[in-house]
Amino acid sequence: MDEYKQIKATSKTGKEPVTCDGNNTRYTLLDFWRWSVSDILSNATRGRFAEFIVGTAIGLDPKNIREEWNAFDLTTNEGIKIEVKSASYIQSWYQKELSNILFSIRPSKYWDAETNIQCGEPKRHADVYVFCLLKHQDKFTVDPLKLEQWDFYILPTYRLDNYRRSQSSITINSLKKMGTRKHYNELRNEIMSAYEEQSQFKELQYRNKVKCPICNEKMVEIVYGFPSIETANLAEQRMVFIGGCCISEDSPDYHCYKCRKSFSKDFKTIFDEDDDWILK
Ligand SMILES: [Zn+2]
Repeated sequence: MDEYKQIKATSKTGKEPVTCDGNNTRYTLLDFWRWSVSDILSNATRGRFAEFIVGTAIGLDPKNIREEWNAFDLTTNEGIKIEVKSASYIQSWYQKELSNILFSIRPSKYWDAETNIQCGEPKRHADVYVFCLLKHQDKFTVDPLKLEQWDFYILPTYRLDNYRRSQSSITINSLKKMGTRKHYNELRNEIMSAYEEQSQFKELQYRNKVKCPICNEKMVEIVYGFPSIETANLAEQRMVFIGGCCISEDSPDYHCYKCRKSFSKDFKTIFDEDDDWILK
């Protein structure tokens, strides 16, 4: 079966001629590219171009060509796996009105191009999702090559996994509630920060095993000191509890979000959330 194994494509320059019986035709590979992907506004090409934009922010090398069948779209040099989604108000076709903005977030099975086997339960394989919105709304001046015409929303994947309203798609309004709009220049830093939050989430998920002595739900750790953005986001997702800036010997260690109570490590001292030990 070895002769049917996966073909790894190599990077081309565009100068490669299209030949027939060993003779060059008038056309080159570049002609094919110009013909097939010049309409960046068309859905399929816009999606790939959005991946390219995010790639340029993380230092993509165009010689490492795009992999069509990976379980996620891009990988940074540090190994962060990124899924890229794109949407646009403007389409290349005739429109009565601007398009509604909806991004697909559907989990997928991992399909292995080397073995042609689909495996595992459907899930989100990337660490970070980048939603790219071509925000420009004027058909005469729209130009996807102008990166200031795009907005970016970056989320750690666990927040989509926790998203209650839908597991298949997300509207722009929901995205605006979950994250802030970012400029192209901020993309790289935001991806790193979202990855940091995703990593902390995974670690907390592993560590948050202590159960509440009252209701038996899982409790979360209480963190003290000025919270980072990542920690604040994790607290909003109820993965940690922010205990304020002052810590003393008798400050509690665990918090139950259900009972709104906090506990010392030995459970002997119970603190009420409404008590004033928490500095908000
Ligand atoms: Zn409880």
